[in-house]
Amino acid sequence: MRPSFIVCDEPVSALDVSIQAQIIILLARLREELSLTYLFIAHDLSVVRNISDRVAVMYLGKLVEITDSDELYSNPLHPYTVALLSAVPIPDPVVDRTRERIILTGDVPSPIMPPPGCNFHPRCQQAIDICKQEMPQLINMGGEHWVACHLVK
Ligand code: SF4
Repeated sequence: MRPSFIVCDEPVSALDVSIQAQIIILLARLREELSLTYLFIAHDLSVVRNISDRVAVMYLGKLVEITDSDELYSNPLHPYTVALLSAVPIPDPVVDRTRERIILTGDVPSPIMPPPGCNFHPRCQQAIDICKQEMPQLINMGGEHWVACHLVK
């Protein structure tokens, strides 16, 4: 069929780590050989890092941060992205033991009845008054880095 664009919806979830690596290597090789573009959907940010040039983080169906892969992993700005990255294992036991993990409390609200204001405010440790009233819009933080959070204004 020779597609140029492929949606990969959770292609490696529920696979063990060695099979995941083989699939990621295969996808990367095919991308090079066939000049493909992937929309790669996954929950595991360490897997996303290995395959993506650009990453969009979603919470409750809304984009909260979009940027280049290197920028996201070195300079995450949205509190949800920061919490997600704090849970990614680091293959260095010394560094892994000393870093701060952010544990999100509470449940993900229903997307049918999202909370008012910022969808993330019931679980956000940095929420301020405006977060409960006004939905933050994506703001350009320079280059191709976009963030939807009242704190970054
Ligand atoms: S807008 Fe407020 S609640 Fe939402 S992520 Fe930013 S600080 Fe947290």
